[in-house]
Amino acid sequence: MYDEEHILRIEDLKVEFPISIGTVRAVNGVDLELVRGEVMGLVGESGCGKSTLGFSILRLLRPPGRISGGRIIYNGHDIVQMGQEELLALRGSKIAMIFQDPLTSLNPLFSIGEHFVETLRAHEKGISKKDALERSEKVLESLGIAGERLREYPHQMSGGMRQRIMIGLALILNPDLLIADEPTTALDVIVEAQFLDLLDDLRKQYNLTIILITHNLGNVAQLADRITVMYGGTIAEVGPAQSIFDEPLHPYTQGLLASIPNIKLDQPELKTMPGSPPDLVDPPAGCVFHPRCPYVMDICTKERPPVFARNGHRMSCWLYR
Ligand code: SF4
Repeated sequence: MYDEEHILRIEDLKVEFPISIGTVRAVNGVDLELVRGEVMGLVGESGCGKSTLGFSILRLLRPPGRISGGRIIYNGHDIVQMGQEELLALRGSKIAMIFQDPLTSLNPLFSIGEHFVETLRAHEKGISKKDALERSEKVLESLGIAGERLREYPHQMSGGMRQRIMIGLALILNPDLLIADEPTTALDVIVEAQFLDLLDDLRKQYNLTIILITHNLGNVAQLADRITVMYGGTIAEVGPAQSIFDEPLHPYTQGLLASIPNIKLDQPELKTMPGSPPDLVDPPAGCVFHPRCPYVMDICTKERPPVFARNGHRMSCWLYR
């Protein structure tokens, strides 16, 4: 059923990777909705499941990874149930993704123009090369890159330009949802800030909904409307971005924010969270965060917490029952 308010609804999603010593439960019962036009920051430590969740939305999991349960409803259609043809039509033209390292995503033997023409022709069979190049030029210029650079090759571009080209390739088919997986990892801090400004402009210009996957909380502070905090393949907390920074409620979110260095505070030592992320082959019983939680209670070690709501946030934590 079409949902006016939400472009995407994820319900009880489970993703697993069978390996020799067992099954990695990378995403373990995730529920999440995306409001049309918002930027959702998806954050958490490495291995928390955020990138796996992003790849699952486009069914781009590498074998043996597989979706083992749940639904991903995009504009009323369940992506989990889609056949290959429907999926191919969805990828790029409705939902696009940009990746961490633009250099490995671009073919060094193809000019930038050829990348755009191939992308357009994969979805619009009859389009002429001339029309494809004209459209590509417009997109490139909207990203601040001169149209004539379509003739150049990836190695002739700087890191920031290559990332903008990846965005251009993602936008050329006019998608309404963009998943950006750690898009600024390969950029220096100045280019990174420019890139986030550009993403903000494009979101308005192209009426985009964006999922920004990052371990960098500074990035989400700059761009996101809401933040989802993941831990151990589950969602710890979801809430409005500013409110998550001002008043984090889940103990994991509190620990994550406390471990960001703050030059305004007199901090002789950097705070760190004790312990390490859970083993997803054999995750802790009950709340997956309980071995590291300073507020752990008896129930936390036995029963997985349901979702509770408070102050506009939703937390999976027994403290809020
Ligand atoms: Fe801590 Fe218990 Fe809340 Fe988990 S459910 S975060 S262990 S208080």
